[in-house]
Amino acid sequence: MMMYRARPELPVFERSFFKLPDTLLLVFDQNWALTLISDAWANTLGYPTEILQSRSFIDLFHDDDRARCIEQVQRLQREAPTLRFASRCKRSDDSYLGIAWNISFDADSGFYYASAHETALNLNGEGARLPDMFLDGLTGLPNRSLFLERLQHTQHRVQRRPDMQYAVLYCGVDRFKVINHSLGHRQGDLLLMAVANLFYSIIRPTDMAARMNGDEFALLLEDIRDISSTLQVVNRIQQKLVVPFMLDKHEVYCTVSFGIVAGDHGKKPPEELLADANLAMIDAKNQGGGSYVLFDKQMHDRAVQRLELEMNLRRAIDNHEFEAYYQPIMALDNGRLTGFEALVRWNHPDKGLISPAEFIPVAEETGMIIPIGRLMLHAACQQAQQWNTHLQPAQPLSVSVNIAARQLSHPDLLNDVASALSGSGLPAHLLKLEITESGMMANADDAIELLGKLRALGIRLMLDDFGTGYSSLSYLHRLPVDTLKIDRSFVHRLHDHETDRHFVETIVDLAHKLGHSLVCEGVEQACQASILKAMGVEFAQGYLYSRPVTANEATMLILNDTGQT
Ligand code: C2E
Ligand code: CA
Ligand code: CA
Repeated sequence: MMMYRARPELPVFERSFFKLPDTLLLVFDQNWALTLISDAWANTLGYPTEILQSRSFIDLFHDDDRARCIEQVQRLQREAPTLRFASRCKRSDDSYLGIAWNISFDADSGFYYASAHETALNLNGEGARLPDMFLDGLTGLPNRSLFLERLQHTQHRVQRRPDMQYAVLYCGVDRFKVINHSLGHRQGDLLLMAVANLFYSIIRPTDMAARMNGDEFALLLEDIRDISSTLQVVNRIQQKLVVPFMLDKHEVYCTVSFGIVAGDHGKKPPEELLADANLAMIDAKNQGGGSYVLFDKQMHDRAVQRLELEMNLRRAIDNHEFEAYYQPIMALDNGRLTGFEALVRWNHPDKGLISPAEFIPVAEETGMIIPIGRLMLHAACQQAQQWNTHLQPAQPLSVSVNIAARQLSHPDLLNDVASALSGSGLPAHLLKLEITESGMMANADDAIELLGKLRALGIRLMLDDFGTGYSSLSYLHRLPVDTLKIDRSFVHRLHDHETDRHFVETIVDLAHKLGHSLVCEGVEQACQASILKAMGVEFAQGYLYSRPVTANEATMLILNDTGQT
């Protein structure tokens, strides 16, 4: 039952929404008169619909909240296209109910459109401070607490209406840090506001968009048919993102990654649902961004495993479970040993030797790469110096140590390198640091400055996994490196892929023109070594010569090093 005082068109709300049992919607005019009010209000406030229809919008509020609400709504015409705030509303039994409002003003018709939902919090005495508690200051969207609380509310409703489907979407702006860094924080803020508005404009008034933190948002979609309706929402958002945002004078393209979890029927607490959606979003980001991933159980299991790994890693550092293995690097012209690459191994007490591919990414993310990297630097320098002083090889041996992106941006790196050198007595020119392009991508100028400082210590720098990054050639000439290490994926197909051969040839040529030497990794067959040698590549590393081995086994390799051409 609805009463019409004037007849607003309904550009914002579908008329059918006014009949839904749990949907709180209303429309009021500039004199506060309620022109439309959905049926659900009668239940929520405990008044018959006829009484509500004769009231004005401001009659709904707690006496103490009214002045503030009027002030808020008046702001709407002047400043904001939409407004979100919370207030207390009076029920027929004189109790108060917390209501979170979403109100927009349609200047063409002169009507205000409000959607609302109950908040389960006890609002007595908290009225004045409520908006700040619940709303994100930057975007005006509900914040994480309000989202969780609304999600709980949804779960309660779903228990009463088991046919109702809902979904939680966790959304992250891809590469936000890069945008924020390159354009500045103001543009970053503007972008978040624009994205917030986009989410808000796409979802239905009965759904909720909230800001979780930083560049992360969440959407709660209610009353969906099935998960495919969720994908439609995702598609609509993606379509809008094809057009760049205009921020001040900048055009900014951005993509969003979505993690989607289908709402369960009250078995999981809201925090867990949100965490699952977050996990799925991280997966979507890892796949390159701009897409979505549906949460599944394996994802959850993987996350649990990861958490275990993380805890085990912390313990492993304290228990000295890491060991440096060494893989020889050979000179191609005379087949002699020139040095080693130090590669970390984890001696797990139960699981045995664990490959770095399994734990280095986790160590990077958690920052544990810093102590592990420090440990490797010290161990490698000590070991190389010991070999050089005790075994007196024909030529002093060098040692290469891998430096992760996170180490490059860590303020301790210079000190760590200097102290590893002075602690071991290894001459600086015998230490090589292997860095990857991706390690420098985030901020090339800072990285270049740091590399300059490292080189000033006298050590050598090597660009690892060369050819796998995406912008190498454009700034290769600016990088203060000595050696390029061509990734094993190119070496692998060298003898039967002409394009790979041409690629390597071009790189060899370019590197030599820039004054860099070359190492090829992943050399497994003698024919690959001959091709590389003929091309003028100086050094090679791979299973053809030896797998990475323990320090003791490496000692044997040094003693047996006779060279062969
Ligand atoms: P990377 O720096 O590219 O190291 C070379 C990897 O190729 C090593 O894997 C090595 O065992 C493997 N390899 C060497 N020769 C051959 C070959 O002929 N064929 C094939 N198929 N593979 C070969 P590993 O030791 O498992 O290390 C994997 C990655 O983990 C390394 O790749 C490096 O990115 C990272 N890593 C290893 N140790 C450290 C470390 O101490 N610190 C950091 N930050 N990263 C490390
Ligand atoms: Ca390496
Ligand atoms: Ca490599």
